[in-house]
Amino acid sequence: MQRLIEGVHKFRVEAFGRYRDLFHKLAHEGQHPQTLFITCADSRVLAELITQSQPGELFVVKNVGNIVPPASATGRTNSTSAAIEFAVEVLGVHDIVVCGHSQCGAMGALMRGGVDGALLPHFSRWLELAAPVRDVVNTLYFHLSAEAERQRAAEEENVLFALGNLLTYPCFQARLADQQLNLHGWFYRIGTGELFAYDPVGGQFQPLLPPAETKPA
Ligand SMILES: [Zn+2]
Repeated sequence: MQRLIEGVHKFRVEAFGRYRDLFHKLAHEGQHPQTLFITCADSRVLAELITQSQPGELFVVKNVGNIVPPASATGRTNSTSAAIEFAVEVLGVHDIVVCGHSQCGAMGALMRGGVDGALLPHFSRWLELAAPVRDVVNTLYFHLSAEAERQRAAEEENVLFALGNLLTYPCFQARLADQQLNLHGWFYRIGTGELFAYDPVGGQFQPLLPPAETKPA
């Protein structure tokens, strides 16, 4: 805790000045982020850092396993669905990124059959929202025997599962049709800092290239 308090003081004294005008503007004009960024609560995945974003640019949702519940899960109140609705309907974001990552403990637990429901009742129920991911991996990746390979497959399939679940929200259909909203599946490799983007044409994650190097569609 001492480290955190020292950090707060350092921010006020050394860093805030660099952002003073920007925060002043954001405080008076409100936030208008262009992107909803959904990623894992993992402490090694920092949305603003890996995208080099400024305050006010990203509306970030972090949850355990970057799981997106389907709209049909509204009976079970969850902050992720609330944030999705707010970002789309109120903030009017133009892009939604779901960013999975390597060494994801949640996906590892999912592939090992879940967690102890008596000890971790909330985590257990939350993780079961991604049970279809485990089924996909067991079906399509049955040839993978190493636990790490199966976890990696789950980490990537979980991103695609999340994108599919986003489509179940009623607020998405019209906006996607007239291209007011774009969905992106990303994958962050912790050990190297690399980002990959899902290519729906090729059906796999490809290195995320700088805009100038992006091949024409
Ligand atoms: Zn994770």
